Amino acid sequence: MFPNATRQLAFDFSMTRKCLNRSHHELNAQDVAAVHQKRVSSFLSMVLQDDVSVIFTDNRTTMISFKRRSGVLNVRLHKMFQHADDIVLKALSVFIRGIPSIRASKKLDEFIKSNQTQIRSRTKPRRQPVYPEGEHFDLNEVLARVSERYFAGATDGVHIGWGRLRKRRGRRTRTRSRALATYCFEDTTIRVNPVLDSNKVPAYIIDWVVYHELLHHILPVEKSGSRKRYHTEKFRALERAYPQYEAARLWEQQNLDWLLK
Ligand SMILES: [Zn+2]
Repeated sequence: MFPNATRQLAFDFSMTRKCLNRSHHELNAQDVAAVHQKRVSSFLSMVLQDDVSVIFTDNRTTMISFKRRSGVLNVRLHKMFQHADDIVLKALSVFIRGIPSIRASKKLDEFIKSNQTQIRSRTKPRRQPVYPEGEHFDLNEVLARVSERYFAGATDGVHIGWGRLRKRRGRRTRTRSRALATYCFEDTTIRVNPVLDSNKVPAYIIDWVVYHELLHHILPVEKSGSRKRYHTEKFRALERAYPQYEAARLWEQQNLDWLLK
């Protein structure tokens, strides 16, 4: 009855082994998906009298697609169909057959609509939260100090924290991100490279780095065509207004090697 009987058997075997060791509701998402994959494949195979192989996707735009390949009808369904009941699956089979049916397409539309929250949104996932307390510097203190001294405290809505250390992946990969800090316009967050959380770093340097990023927060980005300019002339002028500007630039030059090795 099953088109790919061998694969199905292998599946069953591993499923049983897992189930022996765990109670039923401890099944993880993968196991649940496997159970539904088998259920939906079997149902469609039976109704369509065909060799059907079902794959669940996390596609944002295509909820249903199917293609015949080497005699097998490959059906790709959004993962919401894992929980489709027999009525919905029946409507799905009518759709796959290409039989025009208002009732079936209405049923499918309703099902997709009521499961819309399962469709991944286009927006990027939220970035990691940032932690301001380091071993040597508390970035909230740095931010408060710099904001008070140079911006009259007018830096509302800025978050600050240490960025993540980049893990070494290969011999040639840099272990650390190249920037000393970044400012993200989307979440108005300054992320400071954790290499700066060191007693080798003078306070005026950490202040300088935060000062630079705060300038990004308060100054508009200039656009010329499709190009965006972040370090505008005005930006550079304000940068030079930092009291230890020369010393900070010199320190950066002399220490960049170990900072961003
Ligand atoms: Zn910058």
